[in-house]
Amino acid sequence: MEKENFEERYSRQILFRAIGAEGQRKLAAGRVAIVGCGATGSALASLLGRAGVGTLRIIDRDYVEASNLQRQSLFEESDAAESLPKAVAAARKIAGFNSEIVVEARVEDLVPANIDVLLDGMDVILDGTDNFETRYLINDYAVRNSVPWIYAAAVGSYGATLNVVPGKTACLACIFPDTPHGMVETCETSGILNTAVNLVASVAATEAVKLLVGGTGQLRKTLWSYDVWTNEQAEISAVKPRSGCRACGERDFVHLAGEGRPHITLCGRNSVQIHERARPIDFAEMRQRLEGHGVVRHNEFVLKFWREPYEMTLFPDGRAIIKGTTDTGVARSLYARFVGS
Ligand SMILES: [Zn+2]
Repeated sequence: MEKENFEERYSRQILFRAIGAEGQRKLAAGRVAIVGCGATGSALASLLGRAGVGTLRIIDRDYVEASNLQRQSLFEESDAAESLPKAVAAARKIAGFNSEIVVEARVEDLVPANIDVLLDGMDVILDGTDNFETRYLINDYAVRNSVPWIYAAAVGSYGATLNVVPGKTACLACIFPDTPHGMVETCETSGILNTAVNLVASVAATEAVKLLVGGTGQLRKTLWSYDVWTNEQAEISAVKPRSGCRACGERDFVHLAGEGRPHITLCGRNSVQIHERARPIDFAEMRQRLEGHGVVRHNEFVLKFWREPYEMTLFPDGRAIIKGTTDTGVARSLYARFVGS
């Protein structure tokens, strides 16, 4: 972008002294990964995209549905009607309000086998996920590679966030050696307020801006949580690593060494994800194969197959989300029967 246009577009942010013209140039050179583009990921991507972060890599395994629209602010009814992958829909939306930045859409499930490729070259990693399994994986990667990352979670009316700066602050495993009990609630059991999401995303996105412009003296060094309904607030110190921490102390990266996760029950839905097949799927060929067995529809990003009471969504890499069951055995046999290995 030409200098005058750049300065005009970001003038209100350049006027903010802690950012200034130099900080704005650092943001333009910044590379941020957002893992998971649901409610929190949408808000993070929207804020940082408008703020002028030069490269956003949006990694999400899922597609847009009508029940997402209450809180996932980057998506529209037409995205749900098309079952667009969230990463693709997000990139399109962001291009509409900031075409000067690069948005890399990655329609993939972040697992140990692909994490080195998916998070390569990032300055900051942001958490838009809905599960601790993926967060521990990100934490292991970030600690091993010394990349800062920011944990963010929202459920019900409650939001929590933590900055992890490897070598300086506590990491996620310092604070939560195991998945915390209070956070095993999901959107499915507790519902979620869009205001809790936007609050926690605002706090996390601001911390990411500080990291990118070098305002690290002002970084928050606590696990901060706030309940927008009860107004209860809490902070737990994260100034120093916990001695004996599995991840940042012993450097035992068990989650990176994991074999991957073929079956996952998704948040907020009666569904199972399967990712076992090693080769890509030809949608035209698959459509022919499935046509006698149910209703089939596809676009360039997803193929949907309805066979009562199930709905299967296939991605080009062979991954599937099967809706209508939480039984992994049922999902697996449907997949084996109709898609094959
Ligand atoms: Zn640690």
